[in-house]
Amino acid sequence: MEEAFGAKAYDHSGATEIGAWSYECRHQPFGMHVNEAMFLVEIEDLETGEPITEPGKKGKMVITALDRMAQPCIRFDSKDVIQWDPDPCVCGRTFRVIKGGVIGRADDMTKVKGVLLSPAAVEAVVRSFDGLGDEYELVVERPGDVDHITLKVELQTGVDRSQVEPGLRDQLRLKTNLGYDIQFFEYGSLPRYKLKARRFKDLRKQNKT
Ligand SMILES: [Zn+2]
Repeated sequence: MEEAFGAKAYDHSGATEIGAWSYECRHQPFGMHVNEAMFLVEIEDLETGEPITEPGKKGKMVITALDRMAQPCIRFDSKDVIQWDPDPCVCGRTFRVIKGGVIGRADDMTKVKGVLLSPAAVEAVVRSFDGLGDEYELVVERPGDVDHITLKVELQTGVDRSQVEPGLRDQLRLKTNLGYDIQFFEYGSLPRYKLKARRFKDLRKQNKT
C-alpha cells in the first residue's frame, strides 16, 4: 500500500461502539498509543476479571469513551486482548503504548498445555514469512491426555520447507510459548476461508462428548 500510494501507512484500532481509540506513531513497529485524552483503557485478567496494571501481562480490554455524548460507553467489553508496554515510546508521546497492538480476541483465546493460545498471534507469525501463503489451518486436539497442535501452512511456489521451517518454529515458540506439529502443503491446496475464525479448530470439546 505504501508503494502504491507513495505515502507512509499507519495502523489504528477502533470499534463502531467506541471509535478509534489507539494509533501508531512514527516509531514502527512498536505498538499503538492509546488515545488517553479521549479514552480510559483498563485491562482485566482473562480468567478472573481482576484488573491488570503491570506491563507485559495479557488481558482483555475494557474501555470507556470520555467524549461520547449520544451513545455513552462505560467500561465496554471489547474482547480485544492487549498488554501494556513497559517502556515509554521514543517518539516522546506520553500516552501509554499497547505492545504489538491488539494481539488477539478474548473469545478465541484458549488454554493449550496450560498456556493461553491466541490464534491471532499464530496468524501474525505465519503472515510474516514471505515464503508462506496467507492461508493456514490451526487444529488443537487431545488424542490422549496431552494437547496436540497442528499448524498447516502453504509454501509459495519455488520455496523449500528447509528455508522456512527453522525460522517459523522459532518465531512460533517465541511469540506463543508453544510447540507445533507443522505440516507443509503446496500453494493453493488448503481450503480458502472468508472468516478467520474457521481457520482455527479446537476439536478437544468434540472429543469429550
Ligand atoms: Zn510513539
